Amino acid sequence: MGLNEKTLKSLGPAEHTEHAHATKPFRTVGDFLSNVSNFQIIESTLREGEQFANAFFDTETKIRIARALDDFGVEYIELTSPASSEQSRRDCEIIANLGLKAKILTHVRCNMEDARLAVETGVDGVDVVIGTSSYLREHSHGKDLSYIIKTAVEVIDYVKSTGKEIRFSSEDSFRSDLVDLLSIYSAVDKVGVTRVGIADTVGVATPREVYDLVRTLRGVVRCDIECHFHNDTGCAIANAFCALEAGATHVDTSVLGIGERNGIPSLGGFVARMLVQDREYVKSKYNLTKLKAVEDLVADAVEVNVPFNNPITGFCAFTHKAGIHAKAILANPATYEIINPADFGMQRYVHFASRLTGWNAIKSRCDQLGLDMTDAQIKQCTAKVKAMADVRKLAIEDTDVIINQFYHNLNNDQDKPLLEDLTPEEKEAFAKKEKELDGMPEMDKINHVVEAQTNGQVTNGELASGKVTNGETTNGV
Ligand SMILES: [Zn+2]
Repeated sequence: MGLNEKTLKSLGPAEHTEHAHATKPFRTVGDFLSNVSNFQIIESTLREGEQFANAFFDTETKIRIARALDDFGVEYIELTSPASSEQSRRDCEIIANLGLKAKILTHVRCNMEDARLAVETGVDGVDVVIGTSSYLREHSHGKDLSYIIKTAVEVIDYVKSTGKEIRFSSEDSFRSDLVDLLSIYSAVDKVGVTRVGIADTVGVATPREVYDLVRTLRGVVRCDIECHFHNDTGCAIANAFCALEAGATHVDTSVLGIGERNGIPSLGGFVARMLVQDREYVKSKYNLTKLKAVEDLVADAVEVNVPFNNPITGFCAFTHKAGIHAKAILANPATYEIINPADFGMQRYVHFASRLTGWNAIKSRCDQLGLDMTDAQIKQCTAKVKAMADVRKLAIEDTDVIINQFYHNLNNDQDKPLLEDLTPEEKEAFAKKEKELDGMPEMDKINHVVEAQTNGQVTNGELASGKVTNGETTNGV
């Protein structure tokens, strides 16, 4: 038995007693750069998220989302530029004055006019951005490097003089010239910018490129480093994680990942990633049980469903289906779960309505339904469920009907059909399956045990209630 198995067994039968990575043999050696246990979230649902195709947030909705994010405990909430529209400007003022614990930021172009407008709304900090890639310099704003630096320094000096935080970010950083980038960041660091930002605006970066760039930047600037990753190739959360490993300090997220095109790291996915890395740290910072509420709120506001494969709150995020998984999960959840659903106020679910089910899952369902049967009887019942699942697709309710009817037949010495609404073809197919089952040696043994228990001059009631079992024979099956 390996160390892992031993340690897992010692976790106890029903709950995660410590977080799962305690038993992870491949844990990387921590290095002095890494901030995976020391980071802050800049939540951009109300800025990046407003660029999502389906997003239209009125003032009331923005306030509700800001409060929900504050309840969750994000450190920063970033808002759409007050220069975008008069309503956007007013919304900045309103949210900046809600008295939230989170610091309020707004995201503007790197020029004095926008910076002034931002400061006047009463936000805690201003995030400025300018395109630095050759594509943007050529086709978008047409400004050269010395102009970018001169403007940036002017804006930074001004915002700092008002006592507010100021972040300077490039845009499309991973398609910008490295020497240009480092010259700009070094210049703004020297004049005391609060944070510099790296933005993978087009979602082109790989985790390794992110690690290299952030590590290089870490050697050039003293200020904090914020990272913004788009998810065009599904790397956004991995990139954010690598950025922290390389010394970044702040990560941009949005609820459900909504944003321009297919968005940025989702708040829930990023938090899941970080929780597995350092459960105590993440639990101490964030009110994890509020995640579902803020996701539901945003999903509703932008009229989308929470994706089925969403980390944590996807409908099957904690559903265990294969018989072998179900058995292990019922014995000790840490076997197939690295996240304890209870940390998020969620529940695990052992799927029992399929041909992949095992008798442990059915036993657990019988317990939930309050039906006492012996192990051998449950095994018989499981065989029926699996046979029926080969004949037709089973819903949970169907499976409950089968289990209940099986129990009823057992108790009343009857042989009623396990499902009422079978078509003649399904009936025939099921009868064939039952016949096949009876010919199998394993099934034969189980039937034998059930029969022996029944013939032990006990009533079906006593048998079904589990008062009388032939322990030895049962355990042998
Ligand atoms: Zn973006």
